[in-house]
Amino acid sequence: MTDESRKARLIMALRHQGIRDQRVLEAMESIPRDMFVPGPFQDHAWDDMALPISCGQTISQPYIVAYMTEQLELKPTHRVLEIGTGSGYQAAILSRLARRVYTIERHRSLLEEARKRFEALGLTNIESRIGDGYRGWPEAAPFDRIIVTAAAPRPPKALLDQLAEDGIMIIPVDAGPLYQELVKIRRTPEGFERETLIPVRFVPMLHGIARKSRSDDERK
Ligand code: SAH
Repeated sequence: MTDESRKARLIMALRHQGIRDQRVLEAMESIPRDMFVPGPFQDHAWDDMALPISCGQTISQPYIVAYMTEQLELKPTHRVLEIGTGSGYQAAILSRLARRVYTIERHRSLLEEARKRFEALGLTNIESRIGDGYRGWPEAAPFDRIIVTAAAPRPPKALLDQLAEDGIMIIPVDAGPLYQELVKIRRTPEGFERETLIPVRFVPMLHGIARKSRSDDERK
């Protein structure tokens, strides 16, 4: 099977699973996921599954990327904050649908790899930095949209503070020892409205910046 037919099969599967937003499907079609997947897993780059990347982390399952992106209700004028750059795949998808993407990663080596991919693909509207996502990116706040791609015990206060009015945040929140639920938070003039979406499994959102020597054994 060629990459093109694998890709077509994936896009069809996403449609069947209920992804309706044509712009999201087009973005998924235009970003080559194989560029974000490590060599040994190339054969699975267009399968609907999460795959391992370095530092004990994962690139999310395409369905989850598409679903979270759809739930963000993005407009071309939006400025979006992502926590957990990882491979850079989710940020690349966002960059096709929003004006500017800010993405934070706590592993330096992952961020450096992701930056090379953004450059190779000519995605110039992504700003990325090393940092602790629990603190957000205060200098660039407020954000129209915030997407967290690691699981937290609860939505971090700094991120809620950095969400613009009418803003939406999508975040996996711990719901048991092994899984989380995806939560959608909307900021209104009165406060925050919270809606529970679907059960998901993400790597944990950890505190602080990863130390080089420990970066490979942080799978918790
Ligand atoms: N969005 C990624 C998936 C990343 S997996 C992709 O498309 O490939 C989650 C990522 O969150 C990991 O790379 C992990 O290192 C990072 N992470 C975990 N806690 C973090 C924190 N507090 N701040 C920033 N990044 C964090």
